[in-house]
Amino acid sequence: MSGFDFDLLVIGGGSGGVRAARMAAQRGARVALVEAQGRSGLGGTCVNVGCIPKKLYHYAAHYAEAAEEARGYGWHGPAPALDWGELKRRRAAEIARLNGVYETLLRNAGVTLLEGWARLLDGHTVQVATLNADGSPGHQTWRAERILIATGGTPYVPHFQGREHVITSNEVFDLEPLPARLVVVGGGYIACEFASIFLGLGVRVTQLYRGEQILRGFDDEVRHFLADELRKKGLDLRLQTGVVAVRRHDDGLHVQLEDGATVVADAVLYATGRVPNVAGLGLEQLGVAQGAQGAIVVDEHFRTNVPSVYAVGDVVARAQLTPVALAEAMAVVDHLFGPPAGAAPRQARYDLIPTAVFTLPSVGTVGLTEAQARQQGRRLRIYRSAFRPLRHTLSGRDERALVKLVVDDASDQVLGAHMVGPEAGEIVQGFAVALRCGATKAQFDATLGIHPTLAEEFVTLR
Ligand code: FAD
Ligand code: NDP
Repeated sequence: MSGFDFDLLVIGGGSGGVRAARMAAQRGARVALVEAQGRSGLGGTCVNVGCIPKKLYHYAAHYAEAAEEARGYGWHGPAPALDWGELKRRRAAEIARLNGVYETLLRNAGVTLLEGWARLLDGHTVQVATLNADGSPGHQTWRAERILIATGGTPYVPHFQGREHVITSNEVFDLEPLPARLVVVGGGYIACEFASIFLGLGVRVTQLYRGEQILRGFDDEVRHFLADELRKKGLDLRLQTGVVAVRRHDDGLHVQLEDGATVVADAVLYATGRVPNVAGLGLEQLGVAQGAQGAIVVDEHFRTNVPSVYAVGDVVARAQLTPVALAEAMAVVDHLFGPPAGAAPRQARYDLIPTAVFTLPSVGTVGLTEAQARQQGRRLRIYRSAFRPLRHTLSGRDERALVKLVVDDASDQVLGAHMVGPEAGEIVQGFAVALRCGATKAQFDATLGIHPTLAEEFVTLR
C-alpha cells in the first residue's frame, strides 16, 4: 500500500469533479470526492444553479409565446397563466432527483463521498471541515497521492452603493415573489439568458450593459440581430450605461443610472461575470500559482506548479462551460491513470468550442467570428440569410432568424457557423462536427437539406 488514503482526492462535486472522480474510480483508482454542499451539492453549479435549472426556465418562458402563436394556427381559449411557485417546486424536485443520480453514479463507481469544506494543508493532505455529532465544528484529514481541485466559480458583483440589495444567478431561481419589474445588469450569457427568460415569463425587464452591444466576443451581426429581436419582444435594453446606486424605497428598488435616469424594479440581478472559487483553499500557503482573479495556473496536463496538485474546470477559467470542464476532467484522468483500453489519451481542445446562448430566440455558434477571422488577415467570403421562419408565417409573430457562415476564400474551409433562431444550439451542435472535420463550403453545398427546416439554410447559402 502507498501510505495514502486515496490515489486521487477530488475537491468539488461539479461537472469537472464528478466526471474525474467517476472515471478515475472506474480505472481502478482509490478515489474520494469532497463536496462542500454535501449530497445536495452534487452536480455543482451546472445542476443546481446553472445550465439545468436555467434551461428548464428557458422552456417555461417559451410557453407564453407558444400559446399566443397557437392562435394563428386556429387554437383558441383563455391564455394560460403561470404558477411561479409550481414551476419553482417542480424545478427543485428535478434538481433533487439529479443530485441523487450523481450520488448513485459516484457510489456505484466506488468513489468515497466526503462532505465539508476542503482546504489543502500540503501537496498530499486535505483537511475537510465538518460538523461533529453535537453540531460543533470539527475536521477530518485525508492524505492522497494526487489532489484535483475542481471548485468551480462564484458570481462576481462590483462595488457600488446599495450592493446589498441586488441578487445574482445563485438566488434568481428562487425569487419570491415573481417580480413584476426586473433590472438585469450585464451583457454576457447570464444577463441575456435571464433577461429573456423573465421577459418570457411576463416580467417587465430592463437590461443594462456598459458596452456598445451585448454578447461581446460573439459575431457582431449576431449581437445586433439578437438585440433587435429581444427589443421587438419588449426588452428595455439600454447600452453604454451602468449603475451608480441602488436604493430601497416603498415602491421598490430605485436603480440610479450613470446617465441620470432612474429605473424602479422589484429585483435587480447582477450578471457581471464569475470568478474562480479559490477562497479558503490554502493555495497561497502552499504556493500554488494563480493568475487573473485567482484562477489556478495549470500546464497542458492540468498540473499546477505543485506536482501532486491538479485543477480543472471553472477554477482554471479557460472556458467556463460544462463540456469544457468535462473534457478537462477526462484529459486529466487519462493522463494520470491511462486512457480506456485501446484508446489514445484524450486532450482538452479549446478551438471550435460550440456554444449556445439560451435566449428567445437563441444563439448558436461555433468557430471564428467574422472579426476574428479578419484579424487573422484572411480573405473571407461571408454568406448570410436573415429570414422569417416558416413557423411564423401563420403565428403572426414578426420574429426573424439569422444564419451566417464565415468561409476562408483561399481554402474554401468554413471557419465559423453562427445562428440566431429557435433551437440554435441543437442545430449548431451538428455543424460543429462538420467544422471539426474541416468541412469546406463546397461540402456544405453538396449536402442535401432537410426540407422544410431552418437548419437547411446552412446548406443552401449561396
Ligand atoms: P462547479 O460546477 O461550479 O462545481 C464546483 C463545486 O465545488 C461546487 O459544487 C462547490 O460547492 C464545490 N466547492 C467549492 N469549493 C469547495 C471546497 N473548498 N471544498 C469542497 N467543495 C467545494 N455551461 C454550459 O456549458 N451551458 C450552459 O447552459 C450553462 N449555463 C449556466 C448558467 C448559469 C446561471 C451559470 C452560473 C453557469 C452556467 N454554465 C453553463 C457554466 C457551467 O455551469 C460551469 O462551467 C460548470 O458548472 C463548471 O464546472 P466545475 O466542475 O468547474 O465547477
Ligand atoms: P460573462 O463573462 O459572459 O459576462 C459578464 C458581463 O458582465 C459582460 O457583459 C461584462 O461586460 C459585464 N461586466 C463585467 N464586469 C462588470 C462591471 N464591473 N460592471 C458592469 N458590467 C460588468 O459572464 P456571465 O456572468 O454572464 O457568465 C459567466 C460564464 O458562465 C460565461 O462566461 C459562460 O462561460 C458561462 N455560462 C454559459 C452559459 C451557456 O453556455 N449558455 C450560460 C450562462 C453562463 P464586458 O463584456 O464589457 O466585459
